[in-house]
Formats: sequence, C-alpha cells, structure tokens
Amino acid sequence: MILLSDPRVAEVPVHECGEPLVEISSVPAIALDPRERDAAGTYGRVRAGALERLRSAAGTLPDGVGLLVVEGHRSSTEQARRFARYEDRLRRSGITDPVELRHRASAFVSPVEVAPHCAGAALDLTLVDAEGVELDMGGAVNGHRSGDERSCPLDAPGLSARARHNRDLLARTMSGAGFVNYPTEWWHWSYGDRYWALITGAACADYGPV
Ligand SMILES: [Zn+2]
Repeated sequence: MILLSDPRVAEVPVHECGEPLVEISSVPAIALDPRERDAAGTYGRVRAGALERLRSAAGTLPDGVGLLVVEGHRSSTEQARRFARYEDRLRRSGITDPVELRHRASAFVSPVEVAPHCAGAALDLTLVDAEGVELDMGGAVNGHRSGDERSCPLDAPGLSARARHNRDLLARTMSGAGFVNYPTEWWHWSYGDRYWALITGAACADYGPV
C-alpha cells in the first residue's frame, strides 16, 4: 500500500493544466452534503475535469442509486490544520517518534504538499438511495475521526455482504471513470493529482495545489 507520505508521491512532477475549480452543485445528478461546509464554500468545488468524470460515473450507477459528495476542494491552510490536529492526537496516544508520527498521520490526513484535496482533485463521497439515504458501507465516511479506523480501508475485513457489495459498486463506478482510491479510506477518490499519477503510471500530475 502506498501512503501519501511516500517520497515517490512528492517526486511526481506536476504540469499544472490551469483548469478552474467548479461547483459540484452544478451537476444536479450529484448530491452534495453540508457536513463539511466551510464559510467560503471551498468544500463544494472540484476541478472541471474531475467533475466531468464524476458526472459520467454517476451515469453508470444502477437506477435508484446516486453519489453523495461530502467534500471536494480544501485549502492548504485547512489541510495543515487537520494534519497537525491528527498528529497531536497520535502524540497523546503515546507516539513520539517524528517519522512514525508523520507516517501514521499520513494514513488518514495527507501532508499538504501532496494533498489531493488541495489540488481540487479529490472527492470524499458515498452512495445514496433514491431518497438520499446513505447506503450501508460498513462504516461512516471519515470514520477514523470517531475512532473507527478498522472499517476505513476499502478492503477492510469482516464487512457484511451488503456493505461489501456496496463498496464494490462504488469502487467499480469510480475506477471506471478514471479515479483512484486511497486504500486506507474507502470514501476517498481522486483524479489528476500526484497520487493518481503514481498509481496509474501517468508521466505527470495535471493538478497541483490551488
Ligand atoms: Zn479525502
């Protein structure tokens, strides 16, 4: 498993394509959840090319199933704050070695310089039914924040058949549209950033921090 703290991620060159951030709410077929809403509305935007791919992903879902986005773009300031907060939490749990702290924190919060959300390339999302009710994914989006780290990896063991089925559907849908998953978080998918480029073998990333 390649974590975002892996030096190979930061070594991927970025050829910034200059695509704008656009409003996810401009695509009616995709629902946007307010739980991560910030004052500037940053959470509700993503790069235009990533949104196009998300639109096509939504179009491949079975009738009665839709995508619910929880968070898209994130400012570098906010990313740095979250990384420091998670390191603090780990420190309080007894981890003091700086290298281990960074490695452990990177499992759930990306270092700023390679953060897919800061590039406007990542989406935290889940599946919903026709009434907008979240499907059973065997764990909550951002489950690590409430201490449920066990259910977070896409291939977490011990899931119910229903949850496994729903995660597989999400994975097929997002992979089919060109996104890659961050394997410690079933809800996190990105396109065009450094992590995506490393995993797909692309020569460079199209999206750097914005
Ligand atoms: Zn994410």
